[in-house]
Amino acid sequence: MPFPSRCSRCENESAITLAYMSQSLCVSHFNRHFEKRFTNTIRRHALFSDGEKIGVGLSGGKDSVLLLHVLNKFFKHSNPLHAVIIDEGIPGYRDKAIAIAIKQCETENVPYTIVRFSDEFGVDNSDTSKALSYNPNLGKGVCGFCGTFRRTILNKYARELGLSKLATGHNLDDEAQSILMNVFDNHFEKFARQGPVAGDSEGATGGLVPRIKPFYETPEKEIIAYCAFNNIDHYSEVCCPHSKRAKRNDFRMLLNDFEAKYPGTKYSVLNFLLQAKKRMPHDPDPLNVLVGACADCGEPSNAALCQSCANTRRIRTELEKAKTDPRAAETIAANARAQKTKNKSDLTCNELKNQAT
Ligand SMILES: [Zn+2]
Ligand SMILES: [Zn+2]
Repeated sequence: MPFPSRCSRCENESAITLAYMSQSLCVSHFNRHFEKRFTNTIRRHALFSDGEKIGVGLSGGKDSVLLLHVLNKFFKHSNPLHAVIIDEGIPGYRDKAIAIAIKQCETENVPYTIVRFSDEFGVDNSDTSKALSYNPNLGKGVCGFCGTFRRTILNKYARELGLSKLATGHNLDDEAQSILMNVFDNHFEKFARQGPVAGDSEGATGGLVPRIKPFYETPEKEIIAYCAFNNIDHYSEVCCPHSKRAKRNDFRMLLNDFEAKYPGTKYSVLNFLLQAKKRMPHDPDPLNVLVGACADCGEPSNAALCQSCANTRRIRTELEKAKTDPRAAETIAANARAQKTKNKSDLTCNELKNQAT
């Protein structure tokens, strides 16, 4: 092995090497390092203060499950927690993850709310998938629709449950990938909106609950390691069947290659964004200033209908059309086959894990 088998801080055997700080750590020193950085991120970026009620968007995957665990471990006396578990209606995939999420809430003694797409919008991801197969011009993929629905739900329930911040499991790798993707695609506005707090962090308007990322400075590899060392049970089987992450996976591999050759690259990318943000004039973000209310659901919106309600109507319209079209089944099957071949780059969560550097 290219690294010493002793912990850099004590006589114990090392369990993990953190090349970006040229140290190998035993389990106990790694845990300390991980937890200190976690609480430091929250303090340094002022993600929340004592007494605020914090929501956690809990999927059952490693990031959100561990987030709930460490938030509960360090903040249960100062900040009440509430988990929001979303059931998007993806049979065979979400059922297991949701079961794990519920079990974890019970173990950690954290109250939770389960919200189903079908109850909120009358359509779920299976319906969206069918509508998209019937008419591929409806949108690029299920993920875009799903993301919009999730945002609407999280925001609505955060408000109803009196949550002042919503914590998500985004980690250093997710953020560094997004930064590079925005640079490569010249999406400056999106780049400028990135950061440890999304939504109306500046107290802007529109009833958007700020989203915070306490794992902003935590590498994915260390989330996996912490879960393994501390027996945190999480969902790690196949990724969402609708997920089209081909491009993001390319950036994941690129960053992992660079991190292996030039340790510290992911932190450099992150720090580049943070420095750029400090030097940018603070313009109110038009996307975050929602002044009106949706005619259908009353949620904040700049248009007559919020994006979720507009999408719901479009999906329903396609499904209605399909009902009266004698060739609908044929069209849906053919387009679904075509989408599947295009979507072949999916890796399972375990494959992605093995690539984490
Ligand atoms: Zn040690
Ligand atoms: Zn609406």
